Amino acid sequence: MLIVQKFGGTSVGDLERIQNVANRVSKTKKAGNDVVVVVSAMSGETNKLVGYAQKFSKNPARAEMDMLLSSGERVTASLLSIALNEMGFEAVSMTGRRAGIVTDIVHTKARIENISPHAMSKALKEGKIVVVAGFQGVSSDGNVTTLGRGGSDLSAVAIAGALKADLCEIYTDVSGIFTTDPRIEPKAKKLDKISYDEMLELASLGAKVLQNRSVEMAKKLNVNLVTRTSFSDEEGTLITTEDEIMEKALVSGIALDRNQARVSLMGVKDRPGIASEIFTALAEADVNVDMIIQNKAYDDTTNIDFTVGVGDLSDAKSVVDRFINSKDIKDDSYNDTICKVSIVGVGMKSHTGVAAKAFSTMATENINIHMISTSEIKVSMVIDEKYAELAVRSLHNAYELDK
Ligand code: ASP
Ligand code: MG
Repeated sequence: MLIVQKFGGTSVGDLERIQNVANRVSKTKKAGNDVVVVVSAMSGETNKLVGYAQKFSKNPARAEMDMLLSSGERVTASLLSIALNEMGFEAVSMTGRRAGIVTDIVHTKARIENISPHAMSKALKEGKIVVVAGFQGVSSDGNVTTLGRGGSDLSAVAIAGALKADLCEIYTDVSGIFTTDPRIEPKAKKLDKISYDEMLELASLGAKVLQNRSVEMAKKLNVNLVTRTSFSDEEGTLITTEDEIMEKALVSGIALDRNQARVSLMGVKDRPGIASEIFTALAEADVNVDMIIQNKAYDDTTNIDFTVGVGDLSDAKSVVDRFINSKDIKDDSYNDTICKVSIVGVGMKSHTGVAAKAFSTMATENINIHMISTSEIKVSMVIDEKYAELAVRSLHNAYELDK
């Protein structure tokens, strides 16, 4: 098999851990596999470099930041390669450029355009272990670029896709994807398998284990992704296509997003174009809107409620104020003590009553639901934040996720 193994910052956090990674990689190689390793910088290193730059300038040139930040990954890649050589393995470290990762020219958040994996393929053919510095590439005009924070997940998935690897293992300090946050529900179970779409919903809802862009890319390139811990031999969670998952769970997981606030607009003029004006203005102010509900009021106006991230609330308020001044909106109110609880599962597509069960679970606990939104594989409910943990636990129990 050809296996791509990516090790995050905590997994290469000090020299002893780099040696542990070398041991793990060597085992995979000895078992008869071809191995490409992708590494992050040692944990804290990228932040430290950002701090250095800020000592000299509040606004350093982005191209220089790429030059600076890409160095952290080069340190771990070369050290790992040296450790592997010492253990008797032929290993070679590569920068993003050497690995053929070509990006656009948007410094500090470049997008991968294509990968020319010749150097990697040649080294693999020669029996070498390839160690790639993650998080970086080269722009078509020859400059070093980086892929945005957390970007070495993306490097690993893109390389796995380009080399048509059998597996892309992402090693972190958590052992996989859980049915919900184990800190809230100790009975949470690690999932063996989950589909790309479920993972995307769970990630965007706050289960931050994998960078979202890397899951999207894995889906696009059909890369079998595994997240697992580098601190034990425990099996992780496979993220794959829906077809690979035979027993489709009705609900795979419960996600919680505490970082939500609700904006209520009352007495909104009921005329064509008003929603477009309000939400265009919000988009122009960079306010990220999530759920939206519009109801007709008794008079000739409507009420519009929507949710935004707590951090966007004051920007949202300034936009709304403009509409209040122009008398397009009569009244507004804001609530930042809400949260969003969601149930996610591909099995919902083909079963009825899944949403009803979520609502009756809330009813049994006497939790009021303020807003509801659904997609093919997700039901989200906005409730008071003080009920967040109770809601997660009772839903986890209702769908028997601890079984
Ligand atoms: N070192 C980079 C960061 O801290 C990339 C990564 O770790 O994935 O964001
Ligand atoms: Mg990371």
